[in-house]
Order: sequence, then structure tokens, then C-alpha cells
Amino acid sequence: MTGWLKVVGLGPGNAKQCTHEVTSILETITDLVGYSSYLSRVPTRPGVTVHTSSNGVEVARAKLSLELAQAGRKVGLVSSGDPGVFAMASAVFEALEQTPALQTVDVQILPGITAMLAAAARAGAPLGHDFCALNASDNLKPWSVVERRIRCAVEADFVLALYNPRSKARPHGFNRIVSQLRAQCEPTRWVLLAEAVSTINESIQWFPLSELQADKVNMRTLVIVGNRYTRPVGRWLYTPRYYQ
Ligand code: SAH
Repeated sequence: MTGWLKVVGLGPGNAKQCTHEVTSILETITDLVGYSSYLSRVPTRPGVTVHTSSNGVEVARAKLSLELAQAGRKVGLVSSGDPGVFAMASAVFEALEQTPALQTVDVQILPGITAMLAAAARAGAPLGHDFCALNASDNLKPWSVVERRIRCAVEADFVLALYNPRSKARPHGFNRIVSQLRAQCEPTRWVLLAEAVSTINESIQWFPLSELQADKVNMRTLVIVGNRYTRPVGRWLYTPRYYQ
């Protein structure tokens, strides 16, 4: 049997926001690999071997997936959102760099709806003009890099989408981000907190930066910081397409 590896994005949470391409491929796999909390989102089928992995061992998870595919298995490696956005696709290529013998494996990346797009759609169109996405965690890069990128992005007046903003293990980083935003932006700058988008626990709120409370943010939150023109209209939040 010729094996393959599909690195798939499950979307933000709701099965309706998982692409047809991904759902179809998951019906043909023999092995499912992923972080435990994402695996529960994939319907189980008799005959599929599930390989549960803990968080933080992404390259080992990627290598296992590649080895299974090399041995002839049809492997689905799952990520939330899009696999290329702060997720497993890069870990697969890291594993391929480390183990060139695996480079012959048939690998395909299947995109998904990333959290910032799902969050933006629920609020209106806050990403309607130039924006950038930042991983706000300092797990994989020094804190000075996080700070510098946020500073430069705000200076350039990009709308910011902040992933991984705050965790129990890193409660203080987001406080520093809020202080930095307050130092650079006017207090009326609009900030969107989108939590658990597309799930039953969804919460979408936006308010001026002056009202942002760091402890309202957790690992299920996607934070969008508007540019200087981002504003509410009716019950929506949007960023105009033009720039004066
Ligand atoms: N690959 C994922 C991102 C993984 S990083 C994607 O493309 O969406 C994990 C971070 O994504 C979380 O800390 C949170 O900031 C964001 N996130 C993922 N799912 C989310 C959801 N349903 N609602 C809000 N934020 C989410």
C-alpha cells in the first residue's frame, strides 16, 4: 500500500467550518494523529488507529506521522484552524529537515479556516485593510521579538491579530502587551476579544483599549487590535478599505 500524509486544518471548532476537502479526506485515513483536544473533533470510524499526542511535542508528532506514512499508512495529522498558521505544517517540514530519509513521503497540506478569519467574520470586517498575524507566545521565540514585532506593527498601523495571547503558564506576557499597546495607541483604539469562536462557548466582544482587561483573555481567545480607523457601525466592527 502506498502511504501518504495529509496535514489538515479542522477550522475553528464548528464542523460546518471544516472544509469539504478535509472532511472527505478524513473518511479515507487509516491513522489519525494529533493533540488530544483536537482528535475529539474528528468522527471515529472502525479501523482507524488513533495516535494521541500531548501538547508541545509537535516535531515528534510530525515525525511519527511521516514514519507511519512511509510504512504505507494513510495518515491524517490534524491542527485546529489552518495547519500552516502557528501549527503542524511547519513542524512537518522541520521533521523533514531533520530526517532527510523521510523526504520521499507523499505530503499534502489541506488548508482550514484560521481563527482570525472566523473571529473577524463574527464581528464584521475588522481585517478589512492591511493586517498582520502574530503569535504572542514567547514559547518558541524570545520575548524581545514579540515586543518588537508588536511595536513595529502598531507603528505601521496594521490591524493586529494576536494568537496564543495568554495562558496559565504565561499570564504576564499579555499584561506587557497591553501596556505596550496603551503606550502606543490612543485609549479609544478598538480591541476585539473573540473566544472559542464557532463553538457553544463562543464570546465576541469589542471595546476601547482603555477598557481592555488582561485577565479576560485566555488560550481560547483571538485578540484583534484595530488600526486607527477601525470603528463600530451598528452592531458591527469594521476597518474601512481606504486609508487617509
Ligand atoms: N492553527 C490555528 C492556530 C493555533 S494557535 C488556527 O489557524 O486558528 C492557537 C491559538 O489560536 C489560540 O491560542 C487562539 O488564540 C487561537 N484560536 C484557535 N481556535 C480559536 C477559536 N475557536 N476561537 C478563538 N481563538 C482561537
